[in-house]
Amino acid sequence: MKQQFSNADLEAYLDESLSSARLANVEAALRDEPGLVDRLATLAGQRDAGVHSLGAIWRRQRLTCPSREQLGSYLLGVLDPGHANYLQFHLDEVGCRYCSASVEDLREQHAAAHAQDSESRRSKYFQSSAGYLSAEE
Ligand SMILES: [Zn+2]
Repeated sequence: MKQQFSNADLEAYLDESLSSARLANVEAALRDEPGLVDRLATLAGQRDAGVHSLGAIWRRQRLTCPSREQLGSYLLGVLDPGHANYLQFHLDEVGCRYCSASVEDLREQHAAAHAQDSESRRSKYFQSSAGYLSAEE
């Protein structure tokens, strides 16, 4: 089955910032798809010429990383639409691995908290993650 990779994926590959699973996917695809190698070479060439995509710049600078609280609010769907769009761009287009890891972490904590019937355990989870989650109750 063919895998599709965005330029953000390929740039993350060049940055060596992909997860190991994703890295393995890209490397497998590079072996099978000459077109993907060409795209990667083009991206690498643009870098040498000093041309960076918006995503590459953001990823390098990490100027725009939202806080963990904002990521949590995004997960809960309580951000205003403009802000939520920005976070979605940051996660999906920029592919920020730091924020993606935080989101995964928050999602797991949230799921774990919901799996607990005990209110006391639940509050412990919330305290260990972030206070805003308790606003859901
Ligand atoms: Zn980020």
